[in-house]
Amino acid sequence: MALNLYNTKTKSVEVFTPINPEKVTMYACGPTVYDYTHIGHMRKYVGDDILRRTLMFLGYKVHHVMNITDVGHLSDDADTGEDKMEKGAAKTGKTVWEVAEFYTDYFNDTMHAINVLPPTFLAKATDHVPSMIGLIQKLEARGATYETSQAVYFDIHAFPAYGALSGQKLSDKEVGVRDDVIVDPDKKHPQDFVLWFKRVGKFAHHTMHWTSPWGDGFPGWHIECSAMSMEQLGETLDIHTGGIDHIPVHHENEIAQSECATGHTFVNYWVHHDFLRVDGEKMSKSKSNFYTIDDIRAWNIDPRALRMLFLQTSYRKPLNFTRESLDAAAKTLRTLDIFVASHRALSGNGKPIESYLTDFKDALSEDLNTAKALSVVWEILADKNNTPSDILETILVCDSVFGFGLNTILTEKIPQEVSALAEDRQQARLEKKWNQADELREQINKLGYTVNDTDTGYIVLKN
Ligand code: AMP
Ligand code: ZN
Repeated sequence: MALNLYNTKTKSVEVFTPINPEKVTMYACGPTVYDYTHIGHMRKYVGDDILRRTLMFLGYKVHHVMNITDVGHLSDDADTGEDKMEKGAAKTGKTVWEVAEFYTDYFNDTMHAINVLPPTFLAKATDHVPSMIGLIQKLEARGATYETSQAVYFDIHAFPAYGALSGQKLSDKEVGVRDDVIVDPDKKHPQDFVLWFKRVGKFAHHTMHWTSPWGDGFPGWHIECSAMSMEQLGETLDIHTGGIDHIPVHHENEIAQSECATGHTFVNYWVHHDFLRVDGEKMSKSKSNFYTIDDIRAWNIDPRALRMLFLQTSYRKPLNFTRESLDAAAKTLRTLDIFVASHRALSGNGKPIESYLTDFKDALSEDLNTAKALSVVWEILADKNNTPSDILETILVCDSVFGFGLNTILTEKIPQEVSALAEDRQQARLEKKWNQADELREQINKLGYTVNDTDTGYIVLKN
């Protein structure tokens, strides 16, 4: 079955045809590890995860590389301001290396909590500086760079196709560029971007630095992604993902430098995820609407509920997060959990129902229409014609794409103490001792479990 994917490059939905179906190459721009991973990041990486799981479900082998930006990303994407990592270090009193390690761990833990599959290869920028230097040298040999006392720049006029991804003309961009972007008097055009920052001027004390043919310094953010993706996946990638904020600068720059260096198309399919807002506003610490996995846990909500929330909207549409929408998604997820838990004993006895799997695949192949794919699952749950064991197996197959981790519920062991309390509660209910039943439910809750009453009896699940 063909997967139809929206390609930012052509601004249309196209049939996905990989260069080699035995190894689909997918590169995802990773986080800059100077601060906590928030729910907006989670939306983007769940989006990548759904794309990867869909490709695997369709039978492709996927080589998924994601980077960790731990150097070179300035506070403005267009090379102005401070290095985000150095700022993070100054704020916390830690070294930049400690900051990078702390927030990388936080990112990885968050991804684990929401069942995002780890990339096949996680590329830390600071581990790949030699390949970035090599790529800059290649560009230099092609006459696409120039050096000033402060930096090595990519000369934007070396790539006349600049702007094709975002539909900007170079001349429009020239007008739009702010004056304060020009901080180096020897920079030729405002849109030229930095390949290598020298350890001079405001960066004279930059902690992370390497020797290079242009002196001591550090790489720019854009060259990092080009160098690491091509080193790991070859000169032309099948898929490159990122948030929509990356289209006008970061990804335009990646295309310009990569194609100029190799003479080949850099990426066949550009996939961009729209943003998450909170209560109708951009997330920010000053507005106290910057939520992390710790907040979700503090609200006693299963982090997997975020996945349910994200999948209800197309990855290409903005999504507004509210507490109410998260609570509703948590309830919806519980329905699935309860179904699986109450049919645990049937696991392995049935076989997936082909007609539903076809509908499920059709939905996903419409540019990853997860909302429609979820509606297929609700249809399956309501089915009265097939056996519960076949229904269970079908739902588990769908979950290989949704990633709710329903199969772990099959094997979940409920502690003896909790089971005994649940039995006592059931007895109290039978004897219509409602207050006692409520107290027992409370005790079970305190131990981290919930009792759910269903038509066929009660089910105990982890909170
Ligand atoms: P950053 O660490 O800021 O480079 O972000 C890592 C990834 O998360 C990038 O692809 C961003 O586009 C994406 N991202 C950042 N904020 C949000 C948000 N509020 N909603 C969705 N994606 C986001
Ligand atoms: Zn990137």
